[in-house]
Amino acid sequence: MQPKDLTDNEAYKGFTNSDCPFLPCHAGVKREFNCLFCYCPLIAYECPGPYQVFTDANGLQRKDCSSCTLPHDGYRASWAFIQKWLARPVIWDGHAQDPRYLPRKKDHSAS
Ligand code: SF4
Repeated sequence: MQPKDLTDNEAYKGFTNSDCPFLPCHAGVKREFNCLFCYCPLIAYECPGPYQVFTDANGLQRKDCSSCTLPHDGYRASWAFIQKWLARPVIWDGHAQDPRYLPRKKDHSAS
């Protein structure tokens, strides 16, 4: 086995579990569906994903990541995304996501 820095084999960056009964668990993935980060490593950290906040049965603030595709969209892209945000992790304090990172609501008022 080679250290990853010495190999061109990028198989460690992702895989698709095509036998999973929940696939595709997030809508909108355009590249290979990466299942490697099924449990997102950023769940307890600051991230740029479009999460919503809810309060669980123990009164704790949690992220609802249903509409986030960042850890899943393409093996290389999602690997690079996770590595970048884990390089300087900042503990998430339970705040709502910055509106800059949320999907824009369509304006139906214009005619
Ligand atoms: S919003 Fe996306 S990137 Fe952030 S913790 Fe959830 S799944 Fe991970």
